[in-house]
Formats: sequence, C-alpha cells, structure tokens
Amino acid sequence: MCKIFFFLSLFVAINFSSVLGQQDKPIALALHGGAGNILPESIDKASEKAYLSKLEEALDAGYSVLEAGGSSLDAVVTAIYILEQSPLFNAGIGSVLNADGKCELDASIMNGNNLAAGAVAGVRRVKSPIAAARAVMERSSHVMLSGEGAELFAASQKLEMVENDYFYTEKRKESLKKVKEKEKENDDNEGRGRLNESNNYKFGTVGVVALDKNGDLAAGTSTGGMTNKRFGRIGDSPIIGAGTYADNQTCAVSSTGHGEFFIRAVVAYRIAALMEYKGLSLQEAADEVIHKKLKNMGGEGGIIAIDKEGNISLTFNTSAMFRAYRNHKGKKEILIFGE
Ligand code: ASP
Repeated sequence: MCKIFFFLSLFVAINFSSVLGQQDKPIALALHGGAGNILPESIDKASEKAYLSKLEEALDAGYSVLEAGGSSLDAVVTAIYILEQSPLFNAGIGSVLNADGKCELDASIMNGNNLAAGAVAGVRRVKSPIAAARAVMERSSHVMLSGEGAELFAASQKLEMVENDYFYTEKRKESLKKVKEKEKENDDNEGRGRLNESNNYKFGTVGVVALDKNGDLAAGTSTGGMTNKRFGRIGDSPIIGAGTYADNQTCAVSSTGHGEFFIRAVVAYRIAALMEYKGLSLQEAADEVIHKKLKNMGGEGGIIAIDKEGNISLTFNTSAMFRAYRNHKGKKEILIFGE
C-alpha cells in the first residue's frame, strides 16, 4: 500500500513538473516593417499612428498564436500576412514598383527546428508570398522557386492568385516617378541613383521572428524589394542566410535594408555563426554584423532576431526601423525611431 502510494505520488509529481515545465517555457515574437533614414518630422502624426497600430495588430496576432500553443511558423505567417495585406508596408499590397512599373515580390521562411526553408522570388501574381514560401518549404522538394515557376507551383497548391495591379498603390507610383526623374537628372539608366537615395527613404520590407512553447524558432521575411529595381532583380529577402535564417541552436533572424549589401555580408547567417562558432551573445553578434561588418561595407538597414532563450535584438544602423516585440516577460514595445 505504502509502495503504491509512493509510486502514485512520484507519477503525479513528474507530470505536474512537466506541465509546469511546459508553462515556464518562454515564448516571444519580434517583427519589423522596414528600416531607413527617416526623420521624425517627416512622418505626420496620423501616419505614425497608423503604422504603430498596424505593427501592434500584427504583433498581437502572432503572439496569440504562440500563447495558444501554436508553432513559431504559424505565428510568423500569421503576423506577416497582416502586414502584406496593409498598403503601409512594402510587401504584398503597397509593394514598391520596379523600373517597368510592376510589382515583383520576394519572400522566405525558415524552421529552426529542422533547418527546413522555403522561398519565392520575383512573383507577380501570388496574393501572399509568405504563404507561397511556406508551401515551397513544406510541399515541394526545393528551397527556392522563382517567377513563373513559383506562380505555377503556388496555383497548383491552391494558393490565392491575383492580378499584379492588386498590389499597386498611388504612393508607390509617385515614388517610382520621383526616382525616375532623379535618374534622368543624373543621366543614370542603371538605377544607381536610387541606390543612393536612402535619405528620407523608408524601405518597408516586413519580417517576423518567433520562439514557441516547444522551443522552436522560426523566421520569415516578405518584400516588394526596392523602387525602380531592374526587372528580375532579386534582393536578400528570399535568400536563406542573407534575409532570413533560423536555427534552434542559435537564433532566428529577419533582415531589412539595402539587399545587395545584405547578400554580400550574408547578414542573417553571419549573426547565427558568430553565436555558434565564437560564443557571442545574440546582441553582441548583431552589433558586430550591423554596426561593423555591414556598415563598413556601406550597407544600411537592420535586423530583428530572437535566441533560444527568448532574448530579442532589434539592431539597425539607420535612423529608424519600424519594429515591435513582446518578450517572454510579456513586455511589449512598438517603436520607429532611435535605438
Ligand atoms: N532588403 C530588401 C531588398 O533589398 C529591401 C528592404 O528591406 O527594404 O529587396
């Protein structure tokens, strides 16, 4: 009798502690809506409010997925979809226009649990590029599909397809016109003028990183790229290791900024590698890459990242990065300027 009681109490104790263990596991989520050199006075109060409230909506939606025990991948896709559907950001509706006046969208996603990854590049007709990236990861044997092939695959997976003008906004048409005028002034038909016009220019790509109750990290990024980019130009956002990276052993990262630099600096993976091979903390690694490596190359932008303990880094070398997070202690912030 005494023995039975002993084993029964042991059983209850073990189960109780595993439930507690599950509850104690940190969850956290961070997101960005692009980085750039904008001045506080260049955004009017109403626009600022609109940005902050959309960022908060996406943050809350993603965090609720995690609170309910959902996966970090689901949280990432949920939050990114909200930002893709908002004309405020350069992803999905409201994407910037390329030199031919078309939207060509890039997105990627990575699962830190098994290093699975998926991406689409240069798609014109997929309503949600992040959903398409996830479909490539989960339902194809490839990591990246581009252009028409990516669209055919998305359609075959019953993802919603739209016409290209579904993504157009007046604001982006205006920006393209301005950049083209500048290009003419500078007699620069390669669009290099655009690449230098980062002053007072907000990039607007979106990205999310999350840590779920199982300890799984995930990262995703979605963008329209850069205004006046050449037809066929692919930025860092769909490139695993540059725009997006996630590994449960280290961290999950989503980048935003001038893609050509992020590709060459392999920004997202470089942060994870500094943690893995040099033992740096998440913040030390992010500082090293964004404030030293990238900056010394002339690259502008930032990252959001989260490590396996739920520590968050929001690091950028521009004057602003639209960003929001909620950490494992429930602390929540939604910010635009300063660090
Ligand atoms: N990184 C994106 C690209 O170069 C742009 C951005 O983040 O704003 O396509």
